[in-house]
Amino acid sequence: MLELTRVSKSFGETTILREISLALRNGETTVILGPSGSGKSTLLRTMNLLEVPESGRLEINGDAVEFGGKLTRRQISSIRRRSAMVFQGYNLFPHQTVLENVAMPPALNGKSDRATARTRAVELLESVGMGQRLEEYPDNLSGGQQQRVAIARALAVEPDYLLFDEPTSALDPELGAEVIRVMEGLARERRSLVVVTHNIGFARRVADRIVFLADGGIGFDGTPEDFFASESERIRRYLNVFD
Ligand code: ATP
Ligand code: MG
Repeated sequence: MLELTRVSKSFGETTILREISLALRNGETTVILGPSGSGKSTLLRTMNLLEVPESGRLEINGDAVEFGGKLTRRQISSIRRRSAMVFQGYNLFPHQTVLENVAMPPALNGKSDRATARTRAVELLESVGMGQRLEEYPDNLSGGQQQRVAIARALAVEPDYLLFDEPTSALDPELGAEVIRVMEGLARERRSLVVVTHNIGFARRVADRIVFLADGGIGFDGTPEDFFASESERIRRYLNVFD
């Protein structure tokens, strides 16, 4: 379970997240939707402490932090190792091969020895359809291929939760579709995914749960069926943009 309790975050005078409480179950795909600037990235980044809120609490599978006081390095690393983030782009180290990009993080984190990390990296790269490009450098790959390597890299540290912040929005549609297929596969395997996206089709098809952010709060939290049938004026206005 990934649980946020009364989490508040401001930038300067502006409150972006107002006492947000949310409990996500392991094995589910949660899609976070909301207008631009509604705090989706801030909420996602809070889940692995790239943003630190002023108040509230975060717990992931038994590791917890209370915001407001100073966090210890031990607390930060215990929460961080629970999740891995895939961003819009620029996830990979340009001077490392595809294989090194995926094998290095678990080796460095002491999660496995180099040989095991390498074997596992090859398996993961095969699972995202990148098994033929192990010795390639990231610059020689398409954006979609780079994102698939980034997903393999995120999986390599064996996180409880995979956090995606608009992983396809910098890609041409057909390249984005390759990445979406990999994410659908992960959802089918019942990995725990939290996905910020403007890809409404993905939300409709793949999400177990939709969280809609608006005006600093949670405007909706429930199933895709209920979300897309919602008569809330705020949600209709948001969805109209995609029609
Ligand atoms: P988008 O769909 O455009 O990515 P978002 O929902 O992800 O938007 P956030 O990036 O979480 O929105 O930002 C929410 C608000 O917080 C925005 O108004 C943004 O300008 C502001 N903000 C985000 N990060 C910072 C920061 N480091 N300093 C100041 N303001 C910030
Ligand atoms: Mg964002």
